Amino acid sequence: MTTATRTNPLSYLTDQLDELKAKGTHFKLRVLEDEQAPVCTFDGKKVINLASNNYLGLTTHPKLREAALEATRKYGVGSGAVRTIAGTMKIHMELEEKIARFKNVEACVVFQSGFAANAGTVSAVLGKDDCIISDALNHASIIDGARLSKAKILVFRHKDMAHAEEQLASVKEEPGKKLLITDGVFSMDGDIGPLPALCDLAEKYGAIMMVDDAHASGVLGRNGRGTIDHFGMHGRVNIQVGTLSKAIGALGGYVCGTRDLIDFLYHRARPFLFSTSHPPAVAATCIAAFDVLENEPERMEKLWENTRFWKKELGLLGFDIGGRNTPASETPITPIIIGDGKLTMDFSRELFKEGVLGTGIAFPTVPEGKARIRTIMTATHTKEELGQALEVLGRVGKRMGIVGLIRS
Ligand SMILES: *Cc1c(COP(=O)(O)O)cnc(C)c1O
Repeated sequence: MTTATRTNPLSYLTDQLDELKAKGTHFKLRVLEDEQAPVCTFDGKKVINLASNNYLGLTTHPKLREAALEATRKYGVGSGAVRTIAGTMKIHMELEEKIARFKNVEACVVFQSGFAANAGTVSAVLGKDDCIISDALNHASIIDGARLSKAKILVFRHKDMAHAEEQLASVKEEPGKKLLITDGVFSMDGDIGPLPALCDLAEKYGAIMMVDDAHASGVLGRNGRGTIDHFGMHGRVNIQVGTLSKAIGALGGYVCGTRDLIDFLYHRARPFLFSTSHPPAVAATCIAAFDVLENEPERMEKLWENTRFWKKELGLLGFDIGGRNTPASETPITPIIIGDGKLTMDFSRELFKEGVLGTGIAFPTVPEGKARIRTIMTATHTKEELGQALEVLGRVGKRMGIVGLIRS
């Protein structure tokens, strides 16, 4: 018998990829060949890196490197189990205690990533009879957690407090719990969530208040304590999420709150129960990183100095850096709004040829027609590097008709 000919059951994936290619938004992964640094080598080309979340330059900090090496020598490379079986090492507990003290809360639980922290927490804390009231631009991990919880999801227009209140009021009579949730800093536009107004609403409607501070950890608040500290909202946010993967320089996510919230998550958060804990090197690195946040505040000062300089200069060049049809950035994330997805990807490729890495971001990561190059400042970019990047952006932007582009 001859082998039956069978069409490839995954051929629809190829069709979808072909569609992306036709639209010009298909991408190849850029591969980094040396350290995550302001100037580094991707795909064999030395470029100024405007795409990294390494806000404070901690990925290569000597103290963090040393902490990772020492922990590896002492404890090996893996934890060997999930936290609830045999994978809770003393160093994991030390990290959680360290973060809880830093954030001035009762307790903290560390997850394998910020994504796992959000998805695992929202889906554990809420159930099918509950309601989640969520900002339209909240991170994908919040959206996935909300879907996994099976709760009713009500989305309010980005930072529109009247709409958020309307949504809360619409479910006021329902018996289930309500969760009001926002990003502290929105990752694609760089604007800050309106925490004071949201906390007022949560209190008025008896909702649980949750903030995802991934891009605020190490960036906003005293020594990088995040948006809760930035706004003085201590004691008014029930669930605080942060990441260890961005400014902290390593990998992981955490949730801060009451001792009982954390104990509950130890028992019910599925990534905690069913996925292996961090290697000791990661925990040790993060412990060292929080020491650096406390002892080297000059890193954050430099980050903000670079950010102010960068926004001013990009604006002077005539780019749309948000604030017209998109939110205005208030943080080291500065988008250059272009609109068309293909033009954005072409711009990104041309910039790369001229020695600047600025990642193009298009649908579905941002809405259709809001494609952009997202730039991120760090504390370790020098003025010379920024000057050089601005020269390239201006020159290529003019050549491609992007500078001064007026969008409807
Ligand atoms: C990056 C990010 C996350 C995920 O954090 P990881 O530690 O990278 O998994 C969650 N929320 C927001 C808002 C983010 O920007």
